Amino acid sequence: MKLLKYILLCFICVFASCKTASNQTVTANSTPKNIILLIGDGTGLSQISSAFFFKETPPNYGRFKHIGLIKTSSSREDITDSAAGATAFASGIKSYNGAIGVTDDSTHVATLVEIAKANNIKSGVVSTSSITHATPASFYAHSINRGMYEEIAGYLAKSDVDFFAGGGIKWFNKRKDNIDLLAEFKNKSFLLDTVSLKDYASIKNAPKVGFLLGQDHMPPAAKGRGDYLPRATELGIRYLNDKGSPFFMMVEGSQVDWGGHANDADYLISELIDFDDAIGKALDFAKKDGNTLVIVTADHETGGFTLGPTTRKRTDGSEYQDYSEVSGIFSTNAHSATLIPVFAFGPGAEEFLGVYENTEIFHKILKVTGWK
Ligand code: MG
Ligand code: ZN
Repeated sequence: MKLLKYILLCFICVFASCKTASNQTVTANSTPKNIILLIGDGTGLSQISSAFFFKETPPNYGRFKHIGLIKTSSSREDITDSAAGATAFASGIKSYNGAIGVTDDSTHVATLVEIAKANNIKSGVVSTSSITHATPASFYAHSINRGMYEEIAGYLAKSDVDFFAGGGIKWFNKRKDNIDLLAEFKNKSFLLDTVSLKDYASIKNAPKVGFLLGQDHMPPAAKGRGDYLPRATELGIRYLNDKGSPFFMMVEGSQVDWGGHANDADYLISELIDFDDAIGKALDFAKKDGNTLVIVTADHETGGFTLGPTTRKRTDGSEYQDYSEVSGIFSTNAHSATLIPVFAFGPGAEEFLGVYENTEIFHKILKVTGWK
């Protein structure tokens, strides 16, 4: 009996050490080659939760095992805007609301697109707003004020972005300075399309690719944009990956924020579901690829949104709260300062656990990739 116990103990030890060895192999392979950062503008926990009640298929948010929380205040304000929020992600610094790629004292600071270029990493920027809007702009431009769209458009034309998609044609070709920046893209060997997303076969040999699909912002998903965001995400990933070098890609679901500002739950939820579809495209690629880290987060929450009971009326006219069905309820038409979830998948994902400042997203990306 004693011998049997001894043999059993030996088995357990061998099994346990095997398990440790295989876990160590996973930890050792924690340097991602590619980074896909998805930002749902204005997407707090209740916005995310809405996918679990209103999406007909299982939400892609549910596929993550590594989850953290960020503090989002800007350098001067408790409540951030999208410019300071995206500058924190793109450059790792706290700046003032309205700042695009500049420090609190308005000094230019390197962005992830610029850092990618310096490290021979391809880069892509995708949004459903104008490509010159605060969130995408913070990844390639430097402006003391987010409203300087023509200046920001000039930065995109000069930048080393390899793939971009969004709206904002007018900031490139109907400018006060009369410069035609669309022509500049063509001079820089861009395949530029201002009508619709192309299929992969027609862009794969282009040195660089840009889509500007709207005079200003793109329409809401439910009002004509359709599945542009997941398709642009998939197209951009495939295009950048097939170039043979590592890549960094930022994808923004810009209009979850606008549904929040409008206190329009249907708008917010349809944009959130569309963003979740884009997350799915990134995760499907990362799962197959094995060398890609997907990070999903938001700059801030918008609307003070929550999922409360549905208010209904009895036959006598009195109201009651019906717990059997949730409804979207707002507490403000502005941004809020609640902690924001961070979801990570792929090599290096464990780095994103915990509670930390939004600027850490940038520093953690540099830490896990080794980009300088
Ligand atoms: Mg935005
Ligand atoms: Zn906003």
